[in-house]
Amino acid sequence: MKITDARVFVGGPKKNYVTLKIMTDQGVYGLGDATLNNRETLPAKYLQDYLIPNLIGMDPRNSEDIWQFLYRGAYFRRGPIAMAAYGAIDMALWDIKGKLANMPLYQLFGGKSRDGAMCYAHATGADLEDLMDSVAAYVDEGYKAVRVQCGIPGMPTASYAVPEEKGARNYITDYSGIRPTVEIWDSGKYMRFMPEALMRIRERFGPELHILHDVHHRLTPREAAEFAKAVEPVGLFWLEDPTPADDQDALKLLRRHSTVPVAIGEVFNSIYDCNKLIEQELIDYIRVAVTYAGGITHVKRIVDLAALHHVKTGFHGAPSHSPLCMAAQAHLNAWAPNFGVQEYLVLGTPECDALFPSEHRMENGMVYVSDAPGLGVDFDETEVARYEYQPGSHPVVRLEDGTMWNY
Ligand SMILES: [Mg+2]
Repeated sequence: MKITDARVFVGGPKKNYVTLKIMTDQGVYGLGDATLNNRETLPAKYLQDYLIPNLIGMDPRNSEDIWQFLYRGAYFRRGPIAMAAYGAIDMALWDIKGKLANMPLYQLFGGKSRDGAMCYAHATGADLEDLMDSVAAYVDEGYKAVRVQCGIPGMPTASYAVPEEKGARNYITDYSGIRPTVEIWDSGKYMRFMPEALMRIRERFGPELHILHDVHHRLTPREAAEFAKAVEPVGLFWLEDPTPADDQDALKLLRRHSTVPVAIGEVFNSIYDCNKLIEQELIDYIRVAVTYAGGITHVKRIVDLAALHHVKTGFHGAPSHSPLCMAAQAHLNAWAPNFGVQEYLVLGTPECDALFPSEHRMENGMVYVSDAPGLGVDFDETEVARYEYQPGSHPVVRLEDGTMWNY
């Protein structure tokens, strides 16, 4: 069996999804997601110029050897662009494998450990009252887990994942062109406000709701330790990205002062970004995404390492992940003995469903994986032609005196 061709498509409804389609001499094709949010053209170019010419003629069933060829074969390894490109190839090869076996991918991993996988929604508010309304709406929809982000009194701009105006549900600010907008941040104001706000959410919604909160890498290790200690009575499901994720030692101080569960890793792209965090048991949830952590082959290794150290999964599920990445994660979630929770923001709009038809379904805040062979998601090439690439950027963050800070 041979790979005969592969094509890359960039486009989608309100997102520049980067979709790889690998064709074979037996008519079976595989699909993969290479979307790297706001840098979408780079993995697309890497695939087109360097990787696809090497894939032609290879046996698509040898997904492990092809992964090793991509990773070990590159002298300059890792990084989100390369790993997103490898991730798309690996996802597509697993898709082909599942279709050849006529089995959904979770069966090839070892079958189901659960029927539905718990997801968490994003509740946001310009102020606490607004946030309470947003949480209540998700609880009414059946969600058992909700991430809560709130406007901070006295902060000159809305901070990460918070709308400017009350009642505005769409806080995604990355469609504004190549030049980023600027958000102003003050860790002091945040740390004085947020623990009490989180406690009021707990009091309003009771002990059963899983409350998650994302610090988005904004605190120093000492501040993060103080904050984690302060929010301990809230009983959070997790505290996400309390410190910049590139320092694997940064969480040691937090661990010495608090037992609040910690989640990190949405910007990681390899097992070498998190092996110390996992082996030293400094985290409770690993947040990698199948796309830019090198695909199913590599993420499954991370999940297995995590399982040895009581670390559960909490895969990234930002709107930038296409339904192909979310399907790969849904299959891993159905299998993983150490599944924790899934972030889920790919809302089933008619446009997205037309581009990526599938039988995966969301019900009462749980995802139920499709039994279709492979990833269980198809791709409509005529639909994607409706969309053009739209340049975008994440905001940048400055302190009130102008100093650059972590987005
Ligand atoms: Mg996050």
